[in-house]
Amino acid sequence: MGAREREMEKGLVSIDRWGDGSQAYFLTHLHTDHTSGLSSKWSRGTLFCSATSAELLSTKFPDFDLSLIRVLEVGVTQLVLLRSPSSGSEVRLLVTPIDAHHCPGAVMYLFRGEFGCVLHTGDFRWEIMNERAVMAKKTFMDALEGSKIDILYLDNTYCHPSFSFPTREVASQQVIDIINSNPDHEVIIGIDTLGKEDLLLHISQALGMKIWVWPERLKTMHLLKLNSNFTTNTSLTRVRAVPRYSLTHETLSSLNTFHPTIGILPSGLPWRSKFLEKTPAAVAAATNLNDKTPLTKLHQYAFSVQYSDHSCFSEIQEFIRTFRPSKAAGLVSSSSYCINPRYYFSHLYENHHIRDVSCKDFRSKLDRKFEYEQRDNFVCKREKLSSLGGRVGAIRKGKLGAKIAEGEESEHLIL
Ligand SMILES: [Zn+2]
Repeated sequence: MGAREREMEKGLVSIDRWGDGSQAYFLTHLHTDHTSGLSSKWSRGTLFCSATSAELLSTKFPDFDLSLIRVLEVGVTQLVLLRSPSSGSEVRLLVTPIDAHHCPGAVMYLFRGEFGCVLHTGDFRWEIMNERAVMAKKTFMDALEGSKIDILYLDNTYCHPSFSFPTREVASQQVIDIINSNPDHEVIIGIDTLGKEDLLLHISQALGMKIWVWPERLKTMHLLKLNSNFTTNTSLTRVRAVPRYSLTHETLSSLNTFHPTIGILPSGLPWRSKFLEKTPAAVAAATNLNDKTPLTKLHQYAFSVQYSDHSCFSEIQEFIRTFRPSKAAGLVSSSSYCINPRYYFSHLYENHHIRDVSCKDFRSKLDRKFEYEQRDNFVCKREKLSSLGGRVGAIRKGKLGAKIAEGEESEHLIL
């Protein structure tokens, strides 16, 4: 059977999907948009994940049946035996979890077997000069043993040329520079319930002070053994990490009536809709695709820094160029901003001549469509965001800052 026809039989494995009908379930990482359907009452089958995810899972879902978790060591190939739903014969599945360098515990999965070779990235960042990516690449090459990837399921969150941002090391320094240049200000930084720990740690070490986090976040820091740099005591620090949804224009304005405060939003997204005034000039600036300034002052109190845990366009390109899959599919399709990787990268696929027909024409049409949609969506989604912000704000007040999953990590969903 040719590589192009090979696919894994349905009913064998699910990755970040939690419905009925699979023999093995694989979790890439614990961001909310990857655990929808998973709960403390999980009983559908064995769940495979990294050791860090297993630890975090039991705090996220306190009554989870731990006997259903099977921990896979990152970088190590393991054999999983399954049974073909159609023929009943044994299926030998080789699985290698590989560091995704996204958030704590995040892995990509490389599957190999009679069905061929399938790579699922989950969410990933491919900073090729970073030693973790160098290690991941070596693990890939060793595990592949010369075989090619038949199907790549790819994190295409930023699969458009307009998404260009610096390494996280550079972006971290930008955040520190902002804080240092505002010595008399309190600082709030918008984060999710998991992720961006390296950024916060870097800030804490550079400034020589602890960072405030909310109590549930401190529990996570304890689990990750990072708690010595964090506190829930506001009197110890002027830097606070707060849930991303609570970092709004309204919050900053109201905090500034008590004390000078700046807000910093670390995110790969170039848009600035959250903080901009509704003036035509502001709308034009927010939708300017050529504006790749990584550090932007959005508002008199608010800064955006392009610190992203997802790969930017050039990193996705480098990833595909390295592995040259036969086919690729984007994992994100829920937003009009998310582009099928075929449109830009089909020429890098193995056997690309077979399916590269008219992609060039299609790409230029797509670029225009993308620009129009950004402009159109900016206005209507800004309205949606305002109403969401109001609703979440109300819920938050009621729950005194307890975790609310809405908008978490789904950078592509909350524009
Ligand atoms: Zn994620």
